Amino acid sequence: MTGDSPEIASDSRDLTCYRCGANAAFPDRKRCDCGEPLWFDTDAAAEAFAWPDAGTGVSRYADLLPVETGGDSRTDGGVSAAAGSTPLVRASGLDADAGCRLWLKDESENPTGSFKDRGSAVGVAWAARAGREWVGTVSHGNMAMSVAANAAGVGGSGSPRALVLVPDDISEERLAAIAQYDPELVRVAGDYGRLYRETLDADAPVEFVNSDTPLRVAGQKTTALEICEAFAAETRTRTKRAPDAIVLPVSSGGHASATWKALRELRTAGLFAAADLPRLYFVQAAACDPIAAAYRDGNDSVMPADDAGDTVAYSIANADPPSGTRALAAARATDGAVLSVPDDEILDAKATLASEAGFCVEPASATTLAGIRRLADSGELDADDDVVAVLTGTGFRELDAGSATTETVALGDLSERLRALTA
Ligand SMILES: *Cc1c(COP(=O)(O)O)cnc(C)c1O
Ligand SMILES: [Zn+2]
Repeated sequence: MTGDSPEIASDSRDLTCYRCGANAAFPDRKRCDCGEPLWFDTDAAAEAFAWPDAGTGVSRYADLLPVETGGDSRTDGGVSAAAGSTPLVRASGLDADAGCRLWLKDESENPTGSFKDRGSAVGVAWAARAGREWVGTVSHGNMAMSVAANAAGVGGSGSPRALVLVPDDISEERLAAIAQYDPELVRVAGDYGRLYRETLDADAPVEFVNSDTPLRVAGQKTTALEICEAFAAETRTRTKRAPDAIVLPVSSGGHASATWKALRELRTAGLFAAADLPRLYFVQAAACDPIAAAYRDGNDSVMPADDAGDTVAYSIANADPPSGTRALAAARATDGAVLSVPDDEILDAKATLASEAGFCVEPASATTLAGIRRLADSGELDADDDVVAVLTGTGFRELDAGSATTETVALGDLSERLRALTA
Protein backbone atom coordinates (compact mmCIF):
# COMPACT_ATOMS: atom_id res chain seq x y z
CA MET A 1 0.00 0.00 0.00
CA THR A 2 1.06 3.53 -0.62
CA GLY A 3 0.79 6.51 1.76
CA ASP A 4 -0.26 6.46 5.38
CA SER A 5 -3.90 7.22 4.97
CA PRO A 6 -6.19 4.23 5.24
CA GLU A 7 -9.11 6.15 3.82
CA ILE A 8 -11.36 4.76 1.17
CA ALA A 9 -12.91 7.11 -1.33
CA SER A 10 -16.47 7.54 -0.14
CA ASP A 11 -17.84 8.16 -3.61
CA SER A 12 -16.83 4.64 -4.59
CA ARG A 13 -18.77 3.07 -1.76
CA ASP A 14 -22.21 3.34 -3.17
CA LEU A 15 -23.91 0.20 -4.24
CA THR A 16 -26.62 -0.17 -6.80
CA CYS A 17 -29.06 -2.87 -7.81
CA TYR A 18 -28.93 -4.02 -11.43
CA ARG A 19 -32.61 -4.88 -11.35
CA CYS A 20 -34.52 -2.16 -9.53
CA GLY A 21 -31.87 0.58 -9.56
CA ALA A 22 -32.01 1.17 -5.79
CA ASN A 23 -28.88 2.43 -4.05
CA ALA A 24 -27.38 1.37 -0.74
CA ALA A 25 -24.27 2.02 1.28
CA PHE A 26 -21.32 -0.32 1.47
CA PRO A 27 -20.30 -2.10 3.66
CA ASP A 28 -23.58 -2.14 5.58
CA ARG A 29 -25.46 -3.76 2.77
CA LYS A 30 -24.69 -6.55 0.34
CA ARG A 31 -28.15 -7.20 -1.03
CA CYS A 32 -31.02 -5.02 -2.17
CA ASP A 33 -34.44 -4.86 -0.53
CA CYS A 34 -35.76 -6.44 -3.72
CA GLY A 35 -33.73 -9.54 -2.85
CA GLU A 36 -31.11 -9.21 -5.56
CA PRO A 37 -27.35 -8.75 -4.98
CA LEU A 38 -25.85 -5.26 -5.09
CA TRP A 39 -22.71 -4.18 -6.93
CA PHE A 40 -20.63 -1.01 -6.82
CA ASP A 41 -22.04 1.90 -8.78
CA THR A 42 -19.18 2.82 -11.11
CA ASP A 43 -20.99 4.96 -13.69
CA ALA A 44 -18.91 8.09 -13.13
CA ALA A 45 -15.63 6.19 -13.10
CA ALA A 46 -16.61 4.22 -16.19
CA GLU A 47 -17.43 7.37 -18.14
CA ALA A 48 -13.91 8.65 -17.53
CA PHE A 49 -12.21 5.29 -18.10
CA ALA A 50 -9.62 4.67 -20.79
CA TRP A 51 -7.30 1.71 -21.24
CA PRO A 52 -4.49 2.26 -18.72
CA ASP A 53 -0.94 3.08 -19.84
CA ALA A 54 0.66 1.20 -16.99
CA GLY A 55 0.10 -1.23 -14.18
CA THR A 56 -0.21 -4.97 -13.95
CA GLY A 57 -2.48 -7.39 -12.19
CA VAL A 58 -5.80 -6.43 -10.69
CA SER A 59 -4.58 -2.93 -9.79
CA ARG A 60 -4.18 -2.09 -13.48
CA TYR A 61 -7.92 -1.36 -13.39
CA ALA A 62 -7.86 0.55 -10.09
CA ASP A 63 -9.96 3.32 -11.64
CA LEU A 64 -12.90 0.91 -11.79
CA LEU A 65 -12.31 -0.71 -8.39
CA PRO A 66 -13.60 0.32 -4.95
CA VAL A 67 -10.15 0.20 -3.39
CA GLU A 68 -6.56 0.49 -4.54
CA THR A 69 -4.87 -2.86 -4.27
CA GLY A 70 -1.54 -1.12 -3.83
CA GLY A 71 0.47 1.56 -5.59
CA ASP A 72 3.09 -0.45 -7.35
CA SER A 73 1.27 -3.55 -6.30
CA ARG A 74 3.74 -5.95 -7.88
CA THR A 75 6.21 -5.05 -5.18
CA ASP A 76 3.90 -3.99 -2.40
CA GLY A 77 0.81 -6.13 -2.32
CA GLY A 78 2.01 -9.54 -1.20
CA VAL A 79 0.53 -12.47 -3.07
CA SER A 80 -2.44 -10.30 -4.13
CA ALA A 81 -0.09 -8.43 -6.45
CA ALA A 82 0.35 -11.66 -8.39
CA ALA A 83 -3.38 -11.97 -9.12
CA GLY A 84 -4.55 -11.23 -12.63
CA SER A 85 -2.62 -10.38 -15.81
CA THR A 86 -3.19 -13.94 -16.96
CA PRO A 87 -2.52 -14.97 -20.57
CA LEU A 88 -5.14 -15.01 -23.30
CA VAL A 89 -3.95 -17.45 -25.94
CA ARG A 90 -5.26 -18.41 -29.32
CA ALA A 91 -5.86 -22.17 -29.56
CA SER A 92 -6.29 -22.67 -33.29
CA GLY A 93 -5.51 -26.37 -32.94
CA LEU A 94 -8.90 -26.75 -31.30
CA ASP A 95 -10.88 -24.66 -33.79
CA ALA A 96 -12.19 -27.64 -35.73
CA ASP A 97 -13.23 -29.37 -32.52
CA ALA A 98 -14.78 -26.23 -31.03
CA GLY A 99 -16.48 -25.10 -34.24
CA CYS A 100 -15.23 -21.51 -33.88
CA ARG A 101 -12.05 -19.47 -33.52
CA LEU A 102 -11.09 -20.47 -29.98
CA TRP A 103 -9.21 -18.41 -27.41
CA LEU A 104 -8.31 -19.59 -23.91
CA LYS A 105 -8.05 -17.31 -20.87
CA ASP A 106 -5.74 -19.16 -18.50
CA GLU A 107 -6.90 -18.39 -14.97
CA SER A 108 -4.82 -21.22 -13.56
CA GLU A 109 -1.90 -18.77 -13.57
CA ASN A 110 -3.30 -16.95 -10.57
CA PRO A 111 -1.38 -17.57 -7.30
CA THR A 112 -3.81 -20.14 -5.92
CA GLY A 113 -4.76 -21.51 -9.32
CA SER A 114 -8.12 -19.87 -9.97
CA PHE A 115 -9.72 -16.52 -10.82
CA LYS A 116 -10.91 -16.29 -7.20
CA ASP A 117 -7.64 -14.51 -6.42
CA ARG A 118 -8.88 -11.46 -8.33
CA GLY A 119 -11.82 -11.01 -5.97
CA SER A 120 -9.85 -11.99 -2.90
CA ALA A 121 -7.16 -9.43 -3.73
CA VAL A 122 -9.73 -6.64 -3.74
CA GLY A 123 -11.60 -7.98 -0.70
CA VAL A 124 -8.48 -8.35 1.41
CA ALA A 125 -7.12 -4.95 0.32
CA TRP A 126 -10.39 -3.32 1.32
CA ALA A 127 -10.48 -5.09 4.69
CA ALA A 128 -6.88 -4.03 5.35
CA ARG A 129 -7.57 -0.37 4.50
CA ALA A 130 -10.74 -0.36 6.57
CA GLY A 131 -8.82 -1.73 9.52
CA ARG A 132 -10.91 -4.88 9.74
CA GLU A 133 -9.55 -7.52 12.04
CA TRP A 134 -10.99 -10.34 9.95
CA VAL A 135 -11.77 -11.12 6.35
CA GLY A 136 -14.01 -14.13 5.96
CA THR A 137 -15.47 -16.54 3.46
CA VAL A 138 -17.80 -19.49 3.20
CA SER A 139 -16.24 -22.10 0.94
CA HIS A 140 -14.75 -25.54 0.82
CA GLY A 141 -12.68 -25.09 -2.28
CA ASN A 142 -10.89 -22.55 -4.41
CA MET A 143 -12.33 -19.50 -2.69
CA ALA A 144 -11.29 -20.73 0.74
CA MET A 145 -7.70 -21.22 -0.38
CA SER A 146 -7.71 -17.91 -2.17
CA VAL A 147 -8.99 -15.81 0.73
CA ALA A 148 -6.62 -17.55 3.15
CA ALA A 149 -3.61 -17.03 0.88
CA ASN A 150 -4.38 -13.40 0.07
CA ALA A 151 -4.90 -12.57 3.74
CA ALA A 152 -1.63 -14.29 4.57
CA GLY A 153 0.07 -12.08 2.02
CA VAL A 154 -0.92 -8.72 3.48
CA GLY A 155 2.02 -7.54 5.49
CA GLY A 156 2.19 -5.34 8.54
CA SER A 157 0.66 -5.33 11.97
CA GLY A 158 -3.08 -4.94 12.14
CA SER A 159 -3.61 -6.63 8.80
CA PRO A 160 -6.70 -8.79 8.63
CA ARG A 161 -6.65 -12.50 9.35
CA ALA A 162 -8.71 -14.96 7.33
CA LEU A 163 -11.74 -16.73 8.78
CA VAL A 164 -12.83 -19.66 6.63
CA LEU A 165 -16.14 -21.39 7.32
CA VAL A 166 -16.20 -24.83 5.75
CA PRO A 167 -18.93 -27.46 5.65
CA ASP A 168 -18.79 -30.11 8.29
CA ASP A 169 -18.28 -32.93 5.80
CA ILE A 170 -15.27 -31.44 4.01
CA SER A 171 -12.60 -33.98 3.04
CA GLU A 172 -9.34 -34.05 5.00
CA GLU A 173 -7.44 -33.47 1.77
CA ARG A 174 -9.26 -30.25 0.97
CA LEU A 175 -9.04 -29.10 4.56
CA ALA A 176 -5.27 -29.55 4.50
CA ALA A 177 -4.97 -27.59 1.26
CA ILE A 178 -6.72 -24.64 2.88
CA ALA A 179 -5.01 -25.03 6.26
CA GLN A 180 -1.51 -24.57 4.85
CA TYR A 181 -2.20 -20.81 4.62
CA ASP A 182 -3.05 -20.81 8.34
CA PRO A 183 -6.50 -19.21 8.38
CA GLU A 184 -8.90 -19.57 11.30
CA LEU A 185 -10.81 -22.64 10.08
CA VAL A 186 -14.25 -23.42 11.45
CA ARG A 187 -16.40 -26.34 10.37
CA VAL A 188 -20.09 -25.48 10.36
CA ALA A 189 -22.81 -28.11 10.57
CA GLY A 190 -26.06 -27.06 8.93
CA ASP A 191 -27.49 -25.79 5.67
CA TYR A 192 -24.78 -24.30 3.48
CA GLY A 193 -26.99 -21.88 1.55
CA ARG A 194 -28.34 -20.47 4.80
CA LEU A 195 -24.82 -20.15 6.16
CA TYR A 196 -23.86 -18.12 3.08
CA ARG A 197 -26.72 -15.67 3.55
CA GLU A 198 -26.43 -15.40 7.30
CA THR A 199 -22.76 -14.45 7.18
CA LEU A 200 -23.66 -11.45 5.02
CA ASP A 201 -25.96 -10.08 7.71
CA ALA A 202 -23.82 -11.23 10.60
CA ASP A 203 -23.10 -8.71 13.30
CA ALA A 204 -19.45 -9.65 13.59
CA PRO A 205 -16.03 -8.01 13.18
CA VAL A 206 -15.59 -9.85 9.90
CA GLU A 207 -15.83 -8.58 6.33
CA PHE A 208 -17.19 -11.58 4.46
CA VAL A 209 -16.05 -11.74 0.84
CA ASN A 210 -18.31 -14.55 -0.33
CA SER A 211 -18.89 -15.63 -3.94
CA ASP A 212 -21.05 -12.76 -5.11
CA THR A 213 -20.37 -10.00 -2.59
CA PRO A 214 -19.69 -6.52 -4.01
CA LEU A 215 -15.93 -6.54 -3.33
CA ARG A 216 -15.44 -9.97 -4.90
CA VAL A 217 -17.51 -9.09 -7.95
CA ALA A 218 -15.51 -5.86 -8.34
CA GLY A 219 -12.20 -7.73 -8.39
CA GLN A 220 -13.50 -10.44 -10.68
CA LYS A 221 -14.48 -7.87 -13.32
CA THR A 222 -10.81 -7.80 -14.22
CA THR A 223 -11.01 -11.15 -16.06
CA ALA A 224 -13.23 -9.58 -18.73
CA LEU A 225 -11.41 -6.24 -18.66
CA GLU A 226 -8.20 -8.08 -19.53
CA ILE A 227 -9.88 -10.10 -22.28
CA CYS A 228 -11.37 -6.99 -23.88
CA GLU A 229 -8.17 -5.01 -23.53
CA ALA A 230 -6.22 -7.78 -25.24
CA PHE A 231 -8.72 -7.77 -28.10
CA ALA A 232 -8.64 -3.99 -28.33
CA ALA A 233 -4.86 -4.17 -28.71
CA GLU A 234 -5.16 -6.91 -31.32
CA THR A 235 -7.39 -4.78 -33.51
CA ARG A 236 -4.34 -3.13 -34.94
CA THR A 237 -4.10 -6.22 -37.07
CA ARG A 238 -7.64 -7.56 -36.91
CA THR A 239 -11.06 -6.22 -37.62
CA LYS A 240 -12.90 -7.08 -34.42
CA ARG A 241 -12.75 -4.84 -31.37
CA ALA A 242 -14.00 -7.46 -28.94
CA PRO A 243 -14.57 -11.22 -28.94
CA ASP A 244 -17.91 -12.37 -30.32
CA ALA A 245 -18.55 -14.45 -27.23
CA ILE A 246 -17.15 -15.19 -23.79
CA VAL A 247 -17.95 -18.56 -22.23
CA LEU A 248 -17.55 -19.33 -18.57
CA PRO A 249 -18.62 -21.92 -16.03
CA VAL A 250 -21.11 -20.62 -13.53
CA SER A 251 -21.97 -21.63 -9.99
CA SER A 252 -22.93 -18.77 -7.65
CA GLY A 253 -23.12 -16.38 -10.61
CA GLY A 254 -20.54 -14.03 -9.09
CA HIS A 255 -17.98 -14.26 -11.88
CA ALA A 256 -20.72 -14.15 -14.52
CA SER A 257 -22.14 -10.97 -12.95
CA ALA A 258 -18.68 -9.44 -12.81
CA THR A 259 -18.12 -10.19 -16.49
CA TRP A 260 -21.40 -8.52 -17.40
CA LYS A 261 -20.54 -5.51 -15.22
CA ALA A 262 -17.17 -5.15 -16.94
CA LEU A 263 -18.81 -5.13 -20.38
CA ARG A 264 -21.33 -2.52 -19.25
CA GLU A 265 -18.51 -0.32 -17.96
CA LEU A 266 -16.55 -0.61 -21.21
CA ARG A 267 -19.63 0.42 -23.14
CA THR A 268 -20.15 3.38 -20.82
CA ALA A 269 -16.50 4.28 -21.39
CA GLY A 270 -17.15 4.26 -25.12
CA LEU A 271 -14.52 1.58 -25.65
CA PHE A 272 -16.86 -0.45 -27.74
CA ALA A 273 -20.18 0.01 -29.40
CA ALA A 274 -23.35 -1.87 -28.60
CA ALA A 275 -22.84 -3.96 -31.73
CA ASP A 276 -19.44 -5.12 -30.46
CA LEU A 277 -20.81 -6.34 -27.13
CA PRO A 278 -19.69 -9.95 -26.66
CA ARG A 279 -22.44 -12.49 -26.05
CA LEU A 280 -22.13 -14.17 -22.66
CA TYR A 281 -22.63 -17.92 -22.47
CA PHE A 282 -22.68 -19.59 -19.08
CA VAL A 283 -22.27 -23.32 -18.61
CA GLN A 284 -23.36 -25.53 -15.73
CA ALA A 285 -23.06 -29.23 -15.00
CA ALA A 286 -26.27 -31.05 -15.92
CA ALA A 287 -26.45 -32.65 -12.46
CA CYS A 288 -26.82 -29.23 -10.84
CA ASP A 289 -28.09 -26.61 -13.26
CA PRO A 290 -30.67 -24.31 -11.65
CA ILE A 291 -29.64 -21.29 -13.78
CA ALA A 292 -29.70 -23.25 -17.06
CA ALA A 293 -33.10 -24.67 -16.07
CA ALA A 294 -34.52 -21.19 -15.55
CA TYR A 295 -33.09 -20.14 -18.93
CA ARG A 296 -34.62 -23.16 -20.68
CA ASP A 297 -37.99 -22.62 -19.01
CA GLY A 298 -38.03 -18.93 -19.88
CA ASN A 299 -38.25 -17.91 -16.22
CA ASP A 300 -37.14 -14.52 -14.96
CA SER A 301 -35.68 -15.81 -11.74
CA VAL A 302 -33.76 -18.87 -10.66
CA MET A 303 -35.35 -21.35 -8.30
CA PRO A 304 -33.05 -23.47 -6.11
CA ALA A 305 -32.48 -27.03 -7.28
CA ASP A 306 -33.68 -29.78 -4.98
CA ASP A 307 -30.16 -30.89 -4.12
CA ALA A 308 -26.60 -30.28 -5.25
CA GLY A 309 -26.50 -33.37 -7.46
CA ASP A 310 -23.39 -35.38 -8.05
CA THR A 311 -21.00 -34.10 -10.70
CA VAL A 312 -17.29 -34.21 -11.50
CA ALA A 313 -17.48 -30.41 -11.71
CA TYR A 314 -17.62 -30.04 -7.92
CA SER A 315 -16.58 -26.36 -7.99
CA ILE A 316 -19.78 -25.35 -9.76
CA ALA A 317 -22.37 -27.45 -7.96
CA ASN A 318 -24.34 -24.68 -6.24
CA ALA A 319 -27.98 -25.68 -5.95
CA ASP A 320 -29.05 -22.25 -4.66
CA PRO A 321 -26.92 -19.71 -6.55
CA PRO A 322 -27.09 -16.29 -4.83
CA SER A 323 -26.46 -14.45 -8.12
CA GLY A 324 -28.26 -16.92 -10.35
CA THR A 325 -30.98 -14.50 -11.38
CA ARG A 326 -28.41 -11.81 -12.15
CA ALA A 327 -26.41 -14.25 -14.30
CA LEU A 328 -29.60 -15.15 -16.14
CA ALA A 329 -30.20 -11.46 -16.82
CA ALA A 330 -26.61 -11.11 -18.07
CA ALA A 331 -26.99 -13.94 -20.57
CA ARG A 332 -30.26 -12.55 -21.90
CA ALA A 333 -29.10 -8.93 -22.03
CA THR A 334 -26.08 -9.87 -24.14
CA ASP A 335 -27.93 -12.26 -26.46
CA GLY A 336 -26.10 -15.20 -24.95
CA ALA A 337 -27.50 -18.25 -23.19
CA VAL A 338 -27.15 -20.53 -20.19
CA LEU A 339 -26.71 -24.22 -20.89
CA SER A 340 -25.64 -27.35 -19.10
CA VAL A 341 -23.48 -30.31 -20.07
CA PRO A 342 -23.34 -33.87 -18.72
CA ASP A 343 -20.31 -35.27 -16.91
CA ASP A 344 -19.11 -37.48 -19.77
CA GLU A 345 -18.89 -34.44 -22.05
CA ILE A 346 -17.11 -32.47 -19.33
CA LEU A 347 -14.51 -35.20 -18.89
CA ASP A 348 -14.05 -35.54 -22.63
CA ALA A 349 -13.48 -31.79 -22.95
CA LYS A 350 -11.05 -31.86 -20.04
CA ALA A 351 -9.04 -34.61 -21.74
CA THR A 352 -9.05 -32.71 -25.03
CA LEU A 353 -7.86 -29.46 -23.44
CA ALA A 354 -4.89 -31.39 -22.02
CA SER A 355 -4.05 -33.62 -24.97
CA GLU A 356 -4.74 -31.17 -27.80
CA ALA A 357 -3.90 -27.82 -26.22
CA GLY A 358 -1.68 -28.59 -23.22
CA PHE A 359 -3.98 -27.11 -20.58
CA CYS A 360 -4.69 -29.08 -17.41
CA VAL A 361 -7.91 -27.68 -16.00
CA GLU A 362 -10.48 -28.53 -13.36
CA PRO A 363 -13.55 -30.34 -14.63
CA ALA A 364 -15.53 -27.18 -13.84
CA SER A 365 -13.41 -25.24 -16.32
CA ALA A 366 -13.76 -27.90 -18.99
CA THR A 367 -17.50 -27.23 -19.13
CA THR A 368 -16.53 -24.27 -21.35
CA LEU A 369 -15.29 -26.41 -24.23
CA ALA A 370 -18.11 -28.90 -23.72
CA GLY A 371 -20.58 -26.03 -23.90
CA ILE A 372 -18.90 -24.44 -26.93
CA ARG A 373 -19.16 -27.74 -28.81
CA ARG A 374 -22.91 -27.77 -28.18
CA LEU A 375 -23.33 -24.12 -29.11
CA ALA A 376 -21.47 -24.67 -32.37
CA ASP A 377 -23.53 -27.77 -33.14
CA SER A 378 -26.76 -25.87 -32.63
CA GLY A 379 -25.61 -22.97 -34.81
CA GLU A 380 -25.35 -20.46 -31.94
CA LEU A 381 -21.64 -20.10 -32.69
CA ASP A 382 -20.17 -19.77 -36.19
CA ALA A 383 -16.83 -20.95 -37.49
CA ASP A 384 -15.60 -17.36 -37.78
CA ASP A 385 -16.75 -16.29 -34.32
CA ASP A 386 -13.92 -15.40 -31.94
CA VAL A 387 -14.86 -17.18 -28.72
CA VAL A 388 -13.04 -16.92 -25.40
CA ALA A 389 -13.30 -19.88 -23.03
CA VAL A 390 -12.38 -18.85 -19.50
CA LEU A 391 -10.37 -21.69 -17.98
CA THR A 392 -11.28 -20.76 -14.42
CA GLY A 393 -9.10 -23.13 -12.41
CA THR A 394 -6.12 -25.45 -12.53
CA GLY A 395 -6.43 -29.20 -12.72
CA PHE A 396 -3.12 -29.74 -10.99
CA ARG A 397 -4.80 -30.08 -7.63
CA GLU A 398 -6.53 -33.24 -8.67
CA LEU A 399 -4.94 -36.49 -7.83
CA ASP A 400 -7.27 -38.43 -10.06
CA ALA A 401 -6.62 -37.10 -13.56
CA GLY A 402 -7.69 -40.28 -15.32
CA SER A 403 -5.73 -43.33 -16.39
CA ALA A 404 -2.49 -43.64 -18.32
CA THR A 405 -1.01 -46.45 -20.37
CA THR A 406 2.76 -46.57 -20.43
CA GLU A 407 5.48 -48.99 -21.41
CA THR A 408 8.74 -49.64 -19.63
CA VAL A 409 11.88 -49.87 -21.72
CA ALA A 410 15.21 -51.21 -20.42
CA LEU A 411 17.89 -48.53 -20.52
CA GLY A 412 19.95 -50.68 -22.86
CA ASP A 413 17.06 -50.77 -25.36
CA LEU A 414 16.29 -47.07 -25.22
CA SER A 415 18.26 -45.95 -28.26
CA GLU A 416 16.49 -48.54 -30.38
CA ARG A 417 13.14 -47.39 -28.99
CA LEU A 418 13.96 -43.75 -29.80
CA ARG A 419 14.97 -44.65 -33.37
CA ALA A 420 11.63 -46.42 -33.72
CA LEU A 421 9.87 -43.07 -33.11
CA THR A 422 10.58 -42.04 -36.68
CA ALA A 423 9.45 -45.35 -38.11
C1 LIG B 1 -15.76 -20.56 -8.20
C2 LIG B 1 -15.48 -21.26 -9.46
C3 LIG B 1 -16.38 -21.21 -10.54
C4 LIG B 1 -17.74 -20.55 -10.45
O1 LIG B 1 -17.72 -19.18 -10.20
P1 LIG B 1 -19.00 -18.44 -9.57
O2 LIG B 1 -18.54 -17.03 -9.44
O3 LIG B 1 -19.29 -19.07 -8.25
O4 LIG B 1 -20.13 -18.60 -10.50
C5 LIG B 1 -16.00 -21.80 -11.72
N1 LIG B 1 -14.83 -22.45 -11.85
C6 LIG B 1 -13.95 -22.54 -10.83
C7 LIG B 1 -12.68 -23.28 -11.03
C8 LIG B 1 -14.24 -21.94 -9.60
O5 LIG B 1 -13.37 -22.02 -8.60
ZN1 LIG C 1 -33.15 -4.18 -6.21
